[in-house]
Amino acid sequence: MNRGCEQSMFEKELQELKKRYLLRTPRVVESAQGPRITVDGKQVILMCSNDYLGLAGHPSLSTAACAAMERYGFGAGASRLMSGTSALHEELEDRIAAFKGTESALVYNSGYAANTGIIPAVADDGDVILSDRLNHASIIDGCRLSRAKVCVYRHKDVHHAEDILKRNTHARRKLIVTDGVFSMDGDIAPLADLADLAEKYHAILMVDDAHATGVLGPKGTGTAEHCGMTGRVQIQMGTFGKALGSFGAYVAGSRDAIDYLINTSRSLLYSTALPPAICAASIAAIDIVESEPGRRERLWRNRERFTQGLCALGLQIAGSETPIIPIIVGESGAALDVGTQLFEQGLFAPAIRPPTVPEGSARIRTTVMATHTDEDIEGALEIIERVTRKRSFSHASGRT
Ligand code: PMP
Repeated sequence: MNRGCEQSMFEKELQELKKRYLLRTPRVVESAQGPRITVDGKQVILMCSNDYLGLAGHPSLSTAACAAMERYGFGAGASRLMSGTSALHEELEDRIAAFKGTESALVYNSGYAANTGIIPAVADDGDVILSDRLNHASIIDGCRLSRAKVCVYRHKDVHHAEDILKRNTHARRKLIVTDGVFSMDGDIAPLADLADLAEKYHAILMVDDAHATGVLGPKGTGTAEHCGMTGRVQIQMGTFGKALGSFGAYVAGSRDAIDYLINTSRSLLYSTALPPAICAASIAAIDIVESEPGRRERLWRNRERFTQGLCALGLQIAGSETPIIPIIVGESGAALDVGTQLFEQGLFAPAIRPPTVPEGSARIRTTVMATHTDEDIEGALEIIERVTRKRSFSHASGRT
């Protein structure tokens, strides 16, 4: 393809995306994360970050990272199995295992790298993977990378999952994989029923606690704790980049499971390790999650206040049970327009459109944080009221 041809191909594709209201352009954040931030030169209330506990801008994390840089410098230099494992990587893994109540844990460079590394390591040719229809893209891509047969079951439909298991009893290994908290709907996986199913059909159960770590359960350890399933989920993956305000991801499980992943997980084996300073920030974040349960309480109180306000405005929040609260709009163009108007009025909560969510269920995905003040919540509700008053919203659950 010559240069002219190539340019026109990209241009054509971009025009097509724009025509379908699917073109994305990131806004530039010019301040630290917090309940109020500066975006493209404008002060706005932040209601779309996954920084649920307000730790991304916490001084303890940056102090810990700076101290680690003093000692270790910045880069890790190589992959974990070459020269990239530092004492801080090991300390973080010990802390995560203790936090999750598992024998062992392993740190990955990101949640995306964890899911695309773990899933193909666990399931291969001759195996079957059962994946919830609304699972995160990184799980979908992990399934695609494995050579296993991938069966998608209807969202949270355990009976459908069982039908699939009955039809695949011959499979060598069976892996059931689910988001713990679904990232775009904010509802919670039926982990107890999935654990029963996994035990009945000798399947491995894997949960993605990206949005549950620090948020769900009395101690904030995630979906298994919330559902009373501690010890019944073999593979618990989660991230440091959301409620923990840092970066990277973990998998927690038995010593054998973790040793197996260390030996077989390609995204771990063939990628430079996280800088030690990032591990130090994650350790500082775990300290805060363990010692300040009040943050989680404030997060849930804020959620309550905000959802009550939305319901009073007659807005549907789909199946949300967590600090992720979608306001379903329907068509992409309409959602884009609502997102733009919210921003103009001082609320940063952009439109989420396909392929991130199913066709016809474009939405404003709002998220509350522990650090939002009552004034922030009230301010956000007033803006939402002004913007939505004159519009007719889809009041469906948003699932197609
Ligand atoms: N899993 C889920 C459910 C997520 O929402 C995300 C991030 N949006 C990831 C995995 C990927 O995590 P990371 O951002 O650390 O790559």
